[in-house]
Amino acid sequence: MAEEIKAAENAAGNFIENFIREDIAEGGAYEGKKVHTRFPPEPNGYLHIGHAKAICIDFGMAEKFNGICNLRMDDTNPTKEDVEYIDAIKEDIKWLGFNWDNRFYFASDYFEQMYEFAVELIKKGLAYVCELTPEEMRANRGDLTTPAVSPYRDRPVEESLELFERMKNGEFDEGKMTLRAKIDLASGNFNMRDPVIYRINKIAHHRTGNEWCIYPMYDFAHPIEDAVEGITHSLCTLEFEAHRPLYDWVIANITVPAKPRQIEFARLGINHTVMSKRKLRQLVEDGYVSGWDDPRMPTLCGLRRRGYTPASIRNFCEKIGVSKTNSVVEYSFLEHCLRDDLNNNAKRVMCVLNPIKLVITNYPAEKTETFEVENNPNKPEDGNRTITFSREVFIESEDFLEEKVKGYNRFYPGNEVRLKSAYVVKCTGCKKDENGNVTEVYAEYDPATRGGDTPDGRKVRGTVHWVDANNYLHAEVRLYDNLFTDPEPDTGDKNFIDYINPDSLKILTNCKIEKSVEGAVMPMNYQFMRLGYFCIDKDSTPQALIFNRSVSLKDGFKKK
Ligand code: ATP
Ligand code: MG
Repeated sequence: MAEEIKAAENAAGNFIENFIREDIAEGGAYEGKKVHTRFPPEPNGYLHIGHAKAICIDFGMAEKFNGICNLRMDDTNPTKEDVEYIDAIKEDIKWLGFNWDNRFYFASDYFEQMYEFAVELIKKGLAYVCELTPEEMRANRGDLTTPAVSPYRDRPVEESLELFERMKNGEFDEGKMTLRAKIDLASGNFNMRDPVIYRINKIAHHRTGNEWCIYPMYDFAHPIEDAVEGITHSLCTLEFEAHRPLYDWVIANITVPAKPRQIEFARLGINHTVMSKRKLRQLVEDGYVSGWDDPRMPTLCGLRRRGYTPASIRNFCEKIGVSKTNSVVEYSFLEHCLRDDLNNNAKRVMCVLNPIKLVITNYPAEKTETFEVENNPNKPEDGNRTITFSREVFIESEDFLEEKVKGYNRFYPGNEVRLKSAYVVKCTGCKKDENGNVTEVYAEYDPATRGGDTPDGRKVRGTVHWVDANNYLHAEVRLYDNLFTDPEPDTGDKNFIDYINPDSLKILTNCKIEKSVEGAVMPMNYQFMRLGYFCIDKDSTPQALIFNRSVSLKDGFKKK
């Protein structure tokens, strides 16, 4: 595996990588094998940014070692699955840029083999049918100084074999019997105190229908799924660390074709949001958001609709790294990673969110000029676009004040301001309605400043964006803020619903945008100059443009 080692050496080290490298160097069970990982989502919801971390680690680690990664639906639990989610999961992983080729599996495909492995354990005297109810089992689990108890532990192998078969045939009610691994009732690790490995569950499964009424527990099923697929490294989150001895026990005691190694890493949490599928589902089902792909959701489809790019998310996952301690990453760091990408790649355009008309009184009424401006100063190869200019343009209403305020360099009577890429104009006043609201602003332009430069070198402090009022498109713009006001809405005994931010969505319906965006379709990211990064929303139509603000321009992330 010398080539694989070389491939990995180039990459920055992390502990998972080091473990894998050690395994390769040692040979043994890994001799002659490609690094083989898997991503095992439970198809009971849409993927979120936490899953993206796991995906980047599972697929990324395989990539680094020139190995392969399987996609496996972890559908051993019949109660929660939904076929709807499977396609969405595939779409999200592809979108991130990862590939499982034809290695797409369902854990439920192994039900028959799992059953056979359970029988093998019984025959070896390593599993028994227990008749304690869930309540009795809980009452008999013991504590640190007292071992657990099961009166059925020493029942003869033949009896367990017969009862297990009858369990499978549906002869017993739910909760009446379980199959337990016979390990150690006194273990300091409660997962090893004769854990249940099969339970009766009379629920139809989305793939196997009513074929089964007994289902394997995760801790028994997962190592088997891994081994059957020939996985070498089973990467999972930290909560499975205490389950690893059981994982290894299962592999050691049944006749499987491979010996996968489980390695755990920290779960990703991000502040001002929640990350469990159950909670995300609640937000959707109770109507707090418009759907799984609401742009405020931490789901991958939500982030995609918000304007996040695959590169920004992969970069984020790369930068947060892989560690052994759970931590909460700031949302602003995710935004920072998006800004980084869009700053280099998004096309610049001008859009006015809260328009007021600026009339350039000394500019000819019938005249229109065009300006060639760069699409992206950071990417000259993206070329130019044409914008038009005429006597009336829209500016942001907040870019005009009737009276000068200290530090304010934009429009107020007497002040010179640069209309970005066009002309320097001098504000001469405004018009107000009967309520005293400003309805129009007036200015005079200096024809010698075409392009925005002052040939005499005089200083013009303010530069504002604008849109030609004689040549523009109308747009709706949706501004988003944190979905939760509390940075950690689901810690302790908090009910996260209590912390939903009532101002997390603000809709502006009277925005004016330059014509160059005509015909744009998803996915399309823009920088609206001076305002932030925006993208076309999926609800947008050529007749009614809708943009989402992905992230503002100002970087709220401070390096610690
Ligand atoms: P949730 O609590 O969100 O439902 P889960 O762990 O039940 O999460 P799965 O579908 O079982 O969701 O997860 C698939 C894989 O993604 C698992 O290997 C899991 O460890 C990993 N994963 C899930 N959430 C995170 C997270 N926040 N950070 C890192 N990895 C995660
Ligand atoms: Mg899970």
